Amino acid sequence: MRDLRVSITDRCNFRCLYCLPETEEAANFYQTRFHPPSANASVPIQYGWKSRSEILTYEEILRVVRVAAGLGIEKVRITGGEPLLRRRVDTLVAGLSAIPGVRDLAMTTNGFRFAGVAQSLRGAGLHRVSFSLDSLDPGNFRRMTGRAGLQEVLDGIRLAQDLGFSPVKVNAVVIRGLNDQELESLAGFARERQLSFRFIEFMPLDSSRAWQRDLVVPGREILERLRQRFELVPVEARGNPSETAKRWAFADGRGEIGIIAPVTEPFCGHCNRLRLTADGKLRTCLFSLGEHDLRPMLRGTASDDDLASALVEIVRHKEAGHRIGQPDFVQPARTMSCIGG
Ligand code: SAM
Ligand code: SF4
Repeated sequence: MRDLRVSITDRCNFRCLYCLPETEEAANFYQTRFHPPSANASVPIQYGWKSRSEILTYEEILRVVRVAAGLGIEKVRITGGEPLLRRRVDTLVAGLSAIPGVRDLAMTTNGFRFAGVAQSLRGAGLHRVSFSLDSLDPGNFRRMTGRAGLQEVLDGIRLAQDLGFSPVKVNAVVIRGLNDQELESLAGFARERQLSFRFIEFMPLDSSRAWQRDLVVPGREILERLRQRFELVPVEARGNPSETAKRWAFADGRGEIGIIAPVTEPFCGHCNRLRLTADGKLRTCLFSLGEHDLRPMLRGTASDDDLASALVEIVRHKEAGHRIGQPDFVQPARTMSCIGG
């Protein structure tokens, strides 16, 4: 295990159709196009935001990361919910960047509030930032995210590049009938702006359980379409078998695209990730049905050694892989916004 994703809040200022589809438009999209899943064996979704007292403090997060780094974690990604809804994230970044062993510190954000804090995050030691951007059309952007915020996100991406965050990654979740018609324009944007653009298959982690296989645009199909428009050359994984994206550079050398296909081409065998939820639960897989509550240890009398032993024990039970598409697949109770993508 080398990669720890830390969700610092379960709250969000967006309502993405694939994550927190709580807008009327989201309901209309799902209901008019597809029948709601009937026989989707699943455990009930957990609704409601966590209270402040349930959420880990920055000190508690730093302690978990310090202990995890002592055990081999090297990459830390701050995520959410929307991480920039929390106050003074720069102080957390400064604390994380000072932990010995953390050699890569990144953040995933919807970008809406990024411009206001970009400089302070950079100054505090954030290395990399990934934005979510599913559409370049203002109307479709609002439809997908529930908010009219395209310009703010574009400004955030521009600023991240200007400030020297490198690489600046941008993620798009592709949903058939919603934004798949924009594949080529999103890739063109990546090329023009020299971005690292990731197309991600829609996974069953949404709060309304509206996910349907028909809505997933398989990674292979995405690649075929982009190959018809652009000359793409494969990029080697540079000895990192845990990389989730298969990557292609534009033949004229500017920017690259990556395809993350967890549904149609699972990469579980190489997974080196752990996830810490905002309320202090350690998850060994996005699709785990069980979680390991670290909060009692953090707020009790456990020593760092006790915490380290618990982490080692938890990791021993990491799942072999997810079971999307298997008859016994069960969608977890927590949604992507709670787990941290
Ligand atoms: N709010 C931030 C953002 O949107 O970038 C960080 C948290 S968000 C949960 C992290 C990533 O998860 C985003 O890139 C988002 O696109 C992705 N995501 C959320 N729900 C997803 C789903 N059902 N399938 C695939 N990716 C999803
Ligand atoms: Fe919020 Fe990110 Fe989920 Fe969109 S994907 S609703 S921005 S947490």
